[in-house]
Amino acid sequence: MNCESARQLIDQLLDEELDAGLRIEVRGHLADCRACLEAYARLQDQKAEIQGYAPHYEAPAALVASIRAAVEREAAGEKAALAAGTKWRWAAVAASVLLAVSLGWNFATLRSGGINRDMLEESLLTSHLRSLIGTHLLDVVSTDQHTVKPWFNGKLDFSPDVRDLSGGGFPLAGGRIDYLAGRTVAALVFHRRQHVINLFVWPVDALAGASPWSRQGFNLVHWESGGLNYWAVSDIPVSELQQFQALYEK
Ligand SMILES: [Zn+2]
Repeated sequence: MNCESARQLIDQLLDEELDAGLRIEVRGHLADCRACLEAYARLQDQKAEIQGYAPHYEAPAALVASIRAAVEREAAGEKAALAAGTKWRWAAVAASVLLAVSLGWNFATLRSGGINRDMLEESLLTSHLRSLIGTHLLDVVSTDQHTVKPWFNGKLDFSPDVRDLSGGGFPLAGGRIDYLAGRTVAALVFHRRQHVINLFVWPVDALAGASPWSRQGFNLVHWESGGLNYWAVSDIPVSELQQFQALYEK
């Protein structure tokens, strides 16, 4: 087996999708080829990293069965594509992980008959990660609060309080419309050095709670003001997020 063939098969090797013969051939090549082995190790790290970030929900048995059946139906058609050579793409894997997360989210929500605080926090964290991985961080790009605030007019059933905190070291970058926990929300984006803060805003509902909250290296801080919920999500320290909150509430 040559390098080109091996590269096309290493992601399937990682996913344990190869039959025994191909598995032995690819492993044999990796044993002899340092460059391909390094490519394999990089891919392994990236997959582990994505798995580490993504929240996991167990899919109901019926969903698992229907996906399995659909995959089997597709398998014949896919063989031609595989022969032509499929290349692993970070974006495709990230998108499929996010799809799995949002499917899991929807099913978890359906099964419980509503959302609870844990799910809300997972949803906030997932939206934050999705904005960092994907291309949809900003719908309106502006450091001017007088441009960003009116941009939301007519797009939401409430009006978020938009502030530029550049004087305090949290410059406004812009905003976007996001969808989480079953409703449309405003996401305001701020910078803190090279870090991103997503500030999610929507009207106060029953899901308010104590803050702060941390998971997987990300921190969430929550407050309420003027009938609106504010959730700030970032990888900066909790103390800095609280400083951000204090400036925002001034
Ligand atoms: Zn090679």
